[in-house]
Amino acid sequence: MKTLLVLASFLLLAAALPTPKSFLHGAQVFRVVPKTEGQIHYLSGLIKSDHYDFWTEPRAIGKPVDIMAKAFHIPQLKSTLLKLGLKYEILVSNVAQQVEALHMANEKARAKGTKAMDWTSYHTYDEITEWLDSLATDYPSLCTVEDVGTSYEGRTMKLLKLGTGPATNPGIFIDGGIHAREWISPATVTYIINEFVQNSDTYADILAGVNFYIMPSINPDGYAYTWSNDRLWRKTRSETGTPGCRGADPNRNWGFHWMEAGASSNPCSDIFAGSVEFSEVEMQNVRDQILKYQDTLVAYLTFHSYSQLWMYPWGYTTDLPSDWQELDSLAQDAVSALTGVHGTSYDIGSSTNILYAAAGGSDDWAKGVGNVKYSYTIELRDTGFWGFQLPPEQIIPTGEETFEALKVVANFFLTPRKE
Ligand SMILES: [Zn+2]
Repeated sequence: MKTLLVLASFLLLAAALPTPKSFLHGAQVFRVVPKTEGQIHYLSGLIKSDHYDFWTEPRAIGKPVDIMAKAFHIPQLKSTLLKLGLKYEILVSNVAQQVEALHMANEKARAKGTKAMDWTSYHTYDEITEWLDSLATDYPSLCTVEDVGTSYEGRTMKLLKLGTGPATNPGIFIDGGIHAREWISPATVTYIINEFVQNSDTYADILAGVNFYIMPSINPDGYAYTWSNDRLWRKTRSETGTPGCRGADPNRNWGFHWMEAGASSNPCSDIFAGSVEFSEVEMQNVRDQILKYQDTLVAYLTFHSYSQLWMYPWGYTTDLPSDWQELDSLAQDAVSALTGVHGTSYDIGSSTNILYAAAGGSDDWAKGVGNVKYSYTIELRDTGFWGFQLPPEQIIPTGEETFEALKVVANFFLTPRKE
């Protein structure tokens, strides 16, 4: 009898938990292109609710905004858009199917892989960190790896230092994976590391003249959750005190003009800024590393997807930093090198053409508090055809073009050293 009771309660529990795909069944992604400031304003209000999942955020007139609605909310979204006078197209008609297709493609590519780490498929957090450790053993003259804290769920976070010159060399801080579902980000950051260590002779000048401080996956719990439960999870996985609603948006959590614009105080929202600034331990860990190397840091690059955008502060306001022309000029050069590889076009996003402000981003903090002059947020491939489900065949081309852009940034700080 007791066994039966246990079995019955287990079955009830199992029925109550959604399977990884069931909650996406019937979900669709709608693309709208705002044409007025009023429409942008309305959309930036809608993003704060917890009804919809904005795959891309409202930024400016004429720039597409992709909104995922679950089956239950679709009629409501359609009527809201209609009332706003916003025409929509269905960007993804079957989200569950798209997620499944990427899953199958990645599993197939993983089965073919012969090495523990490669760039023909996406890799788990544990695979990435094990690979980082192996680099420290295999290339001791080029890099070191340090444990720099643990995540909310206890995963070790690692920082890789890359460079052959003195610690006083100009430093470039790079991170990836702040938003869990943006898989191309850690894949690209690890590609960059691999390119440097495999071809250190080719890049001897850069490695001797610049130090890189790299954290490829700074939201480990969220990333692990995208593998185990919900491929489209964005936030961290901390308890919020609200049942059923976990995690904060780590890119709204940084302590510079925190919560002043474009962030939500609702723990169920995808842009929940956290209960206080730096509530998320993972962001504290990254912040502390930036502060540790602050004296030498000249650039901060944080990789997201998708949209193909190279952006610089400010995010919290539509005002520009006083040195924006210098940031813009380097961004232009980096993007032009990027486009030269495979023809991928990027927009350079400055506050001048962005109407929607969002505070608490890591790039704003790096510049505003960390005093890192050249601070950039880069939204990698694509422009929405695959979105977060970018096929594994695109990892290498994305890595190749992004690496060329990074070389431009690194060489920029090297130039004075070349006599
Ligand atoms: Zn992102």
